[in-house]
Order: sequence, then structure tokens, then C-alpha cells
Amino acid sequence: MPDQLLRWVEVGSEPGVAPGSLERVRALLNTDDRFHGVDRLTGGPDRLVAFRDVLRRYLESGDATELTTVAAGHPLVVGFGDGAATLVPAGPDDTVAGLLADLQGAHASGEWPRLKACANPDCQWVYYDGSRNRSGRWCSMNECGDVMKARAYRRRARQA
Ligand SMILES: [Zn+2]
Repeated sequence: MPDQLLRWVEVGSEPGVAPGSLERVRALLNTDDRFHGVDRLTGGPDRLVAFRDVLRRYLESGDATELTTVAAGHPLVVGFGDGAATLVPAGPDDTVAGLLADLQGAHASGEWPRLKACANPDCQWVYYDGSRNRSGRWCSMNECGDVMKARAYRRRARQA
């Protein structure tokens, strides 16, 4: 990845790798690794940390107010090439604008709603829900899914 600002971001971390450029967005979100209690952007550039945190709140709440404000400071223009028209950063070296373009692409393709934070409060890993009906709630059925199902079972057993 040529972008120096993104050298903190590790793409392709399982579970729940996203397709295409949406993976860059997912990988950025997971630098706030709540499962391991580690912030992998510690010491990283402030603007990337701030953008990640705004993006996380947007993912979880769907409220685009903050994100819209951030986006206004990182303009995109239409770029043409190879017979395609895509959104590209207006300014040079604007990593946040590049990520906003990835985000726009994910909305246009309908993939954005598949990006979710794991419903296990001890995990909260951001994953791509590849299930057919988009009903996934956990990053991984083996780990979080089983843990959460066992917890729900014990709760029901206590209430019975
Ligand atoms: Zn999880």
C-alpha cells in the first residue's frame, strides 16, 4: 500500500475481511482493537485517529452528522481513466479523502450495510457480514457466536 498514512492499518485480518477497497475502511476501524484492548493507531497521525473514531460512531449509530462535517474538509472530484469514472481526492496525499471515496463506493454498491461491529460487547470487531440475508450479528460463529448463544441460554435458564 503506497499510502504512508495507512502503514498502521493491517488489511486482511480475519474474521470478516471485506471485498475490494471496503477492506481498507474495515482495517482502519479495527485499529481500535477492542477485543484485545489495543489501539493500533497509538502514535499514529491524529487526523487518521480522529477520522477512525468518527467513522466508528457512524457505523454504530448511522448518524452521519459528524462524518458529513469531516467530509466537507476532504473534497473529492471525478477522475476518469481506463473507461471508468471514479471519485478521487481533490488534494494530493489526502488519505482521509481516499477513504471517503472507498466509503462512497461501498454505499453505491450496497455493501456498506454489511459492515458491522460484532454484537459481543467484549469483542466489537468490525467484520463484513457475507450472509445471504445480512442477518449476521457476530464476527465469527465459532468464537463470539457460540459464546453469546451460551450466555443467552444461561440467561433464559436463570429466568425459567
Ligand atoms: Zn466478535
